[in-house]
Amino acid sequence: MPAQILDGIKIRDQIFVELKQEIARISAQGVRPGLAAVLAGDNPASQLYVKSKIAACEQLGMASWLHTPASNITTDELLKLVADLNADNNVDGILVQLPLPAQVDSKRVLESVDPAKDVDGFHPMNLGKLVSNRPGLVACTPAGCMEILRRHKIPIEGANAVVLGRSDIVGRPMALLLMHANATVTICHSKTRDLPDVVRRADIVVAAMGKAGYVQADWIKPGAAVIDVGTNKVTDAAEAQQLLKNFPERLEKFRAKGNVLIGDVHPDAINTAGYLTPVPGGVGPMTITMLMGNTVKAAKARRLPAAAHQAGAR
Ligand code: NAP
Repeated sequence: MPAQILDGIKIRDQIFVELKQEIARISAQGVRPGLAAVLAGDNPASQLYVKSKIAACEQLGMASWLHTPASNITTDELLKLVADLNADNNVDGILVQLPLPAQVDSKRVLESVDPAKDVDGFHPMNLGKLVSNRPGLVACTPAGCMEILRRHKIPIEGANAVVLGRSDIVGRPMALLLMHANATVTICHSKTRDLPDVVRRADIVVAAMGKAGYVQADWIKPGAAVIDVGTNKVTDAAEAQQLLKNFPERLEKFRAKGNVLIGDVHPDAINTAGYLTPVPGGVGPMTITMLMGNTVKAAKARRLPAAAHQAGAR
């Protein structure tokens, strides 16, 4: 039986309904959550990402501001912009879109964001809170993966979870979230030995490596839940043919378009996994959703601390 599809678009739509109500409720108390985005330079992919984040704010009734400094901006100028946003009481969340232009010290800029407004969850203060399992702002993509598991009632406690990748923005926080939810977690990376054997023991697999179709269908334990974070644009016809040989409709679309988005898990895993996030349409929509959720959470924590306390932690 093919895997049950974990549809990120459906979950996003559910969460948007919940967030819209919450935003209307706190706006009536005089707090309209607001997100400021900083988009430096003219990277087309970044422009697209930021545009969809601003559109989501508008859809939900949140305030948003877009700052678009030129690509020759200096580190000091960006630090000044972030300091102004830190000081602006209407700004609840600050999003510094990466990558920043090469001459900018990205680490310094990200660390200058007020941790209370760090809706990307990248600040060392928020990472530290995550390590010690204290309430804080959590990186959006791993938080979205947890939401997918929870909303489908996939058992996490006691499960063997294998996380492929240990980046600051996905793998590492993902492993911590799963551990705090009482999974037994194995973190794999490029130096891991016998990767297929490690994956075969997993009840939950989270793949965040950036390698199209790397995780083979027969590595997946039958019935396992597979969260595929990878988003890889495949343009090579032979590679597309190998990945999509059992999906003639997708192959047809590739031929018409010249590219296709493939996750880190081979599409054939649909026949071994019990649950699978599609690419696209799985984890991707959840990242923006959690960013919106983090902005609302930051607004409540900073401007309605009593309400935030009642709403609980992570
Ligand atoms: P990254 O910073 O490049 O990290 C990749 C990780 O995978 C590293 O830890 C690396 O190990 C590990 N790795 C690479 N090759 C491996 C191998 N053969 N076996 C085991 N581990 C291996 O990537 P990232 O930023 O975490 O992103 C990962 C993927 O998720 C990318 O495809 C990205 O586009 C996607 N992504 C999607 C979303 C979304 O919203 N859907 C958000 C963020 C990222 P080492 O540490 O040893 O190098």
